Amino acid sequence: MGRVGAVRMSERLRAPGEVRSGSLRLVLLDRDGVLNRRAPEGRYVLNPNDVRLLPGAARAVGALTAAGVLVAVVSNQRSVALGLVDLADVQRVSDRIDAQLVVAGGRIASWHICPHAIGSCRCRKPLPGLLLAALKQHGVAPEEAVMIGDQESDIVAGHAAGVATVRLAPATTVTTADWVAPDLLAAVGWLRISTPP
Ligand SMILES: [Mg+2]
Ligand SMILES: [Zn+2]
Repeated sequence: MGRVGAVRMSERLRAPGEVRSGSLRLVLLDRDGVLNRRAPEGRYVLNPNDVRLLPGAARAVGALTAAGVLVAVVSNQRSVALGLVDLADVQRVSDRIDAQLVVAGGRIASWHICPHAIGSCRCRKPLPGLLLAALKQHGVAPEEAVMIGDQESDIVAGHAAGVATVRLAPATTVTTADWVAPDLLAAVGWLRISTPP
């Protein structure tokens, strides 16, 4: 593998007037609807056999890993509080996603899961607890991180943690996110990856 290049927020990813010129070190990813397909409305991805990666997701994580950017997953899994699964089941789903990403060279540096019921903790998104835990674990400043999610609660959590935000959604979606992208591969493609000579 060659030298790891610096990764910067591209011009296209920079909000008007914003001075966010630091290197990107950590990408925070929501799970369902970002890495893998969401379950039908009112249902959950409970079993590893239900994991279906979204098109381009593995390639996107592989590109970040190759560029030396850390990737952490921050995911609400209320299914645990509802008694539908336990944490070991959630771990099996994480393991399956890890296994499917690794074939494309992608590595998740850490998984951060909120298993709690609504209103019972400090970590369930839109609260920033999971994101702050990831930043702390990896010693990364908010200016060096971006949150990518498909729900507005991901974006609100990102704002609260002080990181840049990308919402994966149709371009016409009303959102407070800094940027909107159709999918993870497009979002990652907007990050400028430069390799020193
Ligand atoms: Mg989601
Ligand atoms: Zn929680």
